[in-house]
Amino acid sequence: MAPDRSERSRTVANDTGDGDAGDQRYTPGRDSVRRQDTISTSIDPESPELCRDDSGKSRPGVYDVIVVGGGVAGLSASIFTARHGLATLVIERGGPPSGEGVAGDESGSILRRNAHLENFPGFPAGVDARLLIEMIEDQTDRAGTDRRQAEVHRVGDTDDGFAVETSAGRFSAEYVIAATKNETGYLENIEGVGIVSRGKAFVDTDERGRTGVAGLYAAGRLAEKPHQAIVAAGHGAEVAVTLLEDHEEPFYHDWVAPDGYFTDRGRELPPGCEEIGDEKRRTREADGRETLGSYIAEPHLGEPLTHPSLREE
Ligand SMILES: Cc1cc2nc3c(=O)[nH]c(=O)nc-3n(C[C@H](O)[C@H](O)[C@H](O)COP(=O)(O)OP(=O)(O)OC[C@H]3O[C@@H](n4cnc5c(N)ncnc54)[C@H](O)[C@@H]3O)c2cc1C
Repeated sequence: MAPDRSERSRTVANDTGDGDAGDQRYTPGRDSVRRQDTISTSIDPESPELCRDDSGKSRPGVYDVIVVGGGVAGLSASIFTARHGLATLVIERGGPPSGEGVAGDESGSILRRNAHLENFPGFPAGVDARLLIEMIEDQTDRAGTDRRQAEVHRVGDTDDGFAVETSAGRFSAEYVIAATKNETGYLENIEGVGIVSRGKAFVDTDERGRTGVAGLYAAGRLAEKPHQAIVAAGHGAEVAVTLLEDHEEPFYHDWVAPDGYFTDRGRELPPGCEEIGDEKRRTREADGRETLGSYIAEPHLGEPLTHPSLREE
């Protein structure tokens, strides 16, 4: 089980005692970062076009963070924002990356075209790329992310953040992370987003994934990162941590440390850090083994998709 959001420490401290985060390199976004009260919502099971807030009230889909694109970078980013407790929605236009996928369906992460993924750390003999995407989806679901299958048509700037128009309705959020590889059309209406054209389209960002518009970030290949899955995953994580630092948490960590690692030394828990004792550690490890085992017990049924130009009509 993923740690309960409420269990996670939100203590703000600039000195972790490890010497890596106590320096003063933190710089806020290019512009002043917008803030609004954090609203926790999840998709209303009875009316999927609506969300339910903490009090159980239905309301239009309002999130803290909307991630456009549920590929490697987008899913990775959503794990971090959701684990911190920000209401996070991933909007992905593609279908399921598993054997249930429609044959010839070219949508979804481009990693679905991979034949066998051999350079993603943690899998000594490689892993089925479709299985990996499924596992990352499960990981972000456990962190509390909502995911929705829809095409994003337009992202617009509003007083409170952003309005995201999709084939499944309109959503809004304080922050948007764009992670759509080379798709930029939905960003055309926002003044201040730099689009770089080098054969394919990319979004101009600073070294942490911030675009020229406060609250709007780009991650993965879309931010001109090298074309490897681990790079996209790593950059998605970096962009999410940047967003969290811009939001309220300088030197954000997202670490799980052994009981007393900080506190026995009289240190406050750094932002995003949690200390757990032996019992919790064993429970989580057992859950990790069982979960992983269920994924790898049988061969994955998904087939790699070839290049669209080679597919039969
Ligand atoms: C044949 C092939 C083999 C590969 N093999 C390897 C390999 O062995 N090792 C390796 O490291 N990398 C490999 N890659 C590269 C790897 O797949 C990419 O670098 C990585 O997937 C990029 O991640 P990303 O999140 O930036 O983009 P993606 O994973 O492509 O995610 C982008 C997502 O955005 C969604 N999207 C786009 N527009 C919209 C919209 N308007 N609304 C909603 N959703 C939208 C897409 O459906 C997609 O799911 C391979 C790629 C190919 C083509």
